[in-house]
Amino acid sequence: MDGEFRTEFVRDPAALRQHPALVLNADYRPLSYYPLSLWPWQEAVKAVFLDRVDIVAEYEAKVHSPSTVIRIPSVVVLRDYVKPQKRVAFTRFNLFLRDGFCCQYCGSRGDLTFDHVVPRARGGVTSWENVVAACARCNLRKGSKSLRQSGLALKRSPRRPGAEELRDMGRKFPPNHLHDSWIDFLYWDAELEA
Ligand SMILES: [Zn+2]
Repeated sequence: MDGEFRTEFVRDPAALRQHPALVLNADYRPLSYYPLSLWPWQEAVKAVFLDRVDIVAEYEAKVHSPSTVIRIPSVVVLRDYVKPQKRVAFTRFNLFLRDGFCCQYCGSRGDLTFDHVVPRARGGVTSWENVVAACARCNLRKGSKSLRQSGLALKRSPRRPGAEELRDMGRKFPPNHLHDSWIDFLYWDAELEA
């Protein structure tokens, strides 16, 4: 069942354009931040009828079935707790997220690329430990030189982030579209930590 819930919300991005539902785990935290756990409204309504979720908030819009009319859920919460994924996928996005979307050499936020700390030409591998976000300028300056030869310094040594760590970073970089009813669930625990 875990797998089912995890993959459903990424299957059809086009269906998310209208009335997506934010999916919360049974502890009322988003099931995931990246991608933000959203279901197309059809999935959310289906889950309501299958008693898999409870409705937390609703849109004004309604849907009609042969026997009933319901308002489209904007936030739903799973009845059964799903254990968060431990493994962090090594993706471009997650790597940028780990590095806070800023160049690990100069700290700038524009024009980001990827840099192999030990250049590939010198046997450097593509891994969490050897790839960092770098601006185009620093990337060019570093070229295929070693760190020492380039005269550049890393802000911190790269490593594989934990799932929790990445989730905390994810909170700082919300998606472009946020429905009002989602805001509390995305930020309430972050504010308590401040
Ligand atoms: Zn830079």
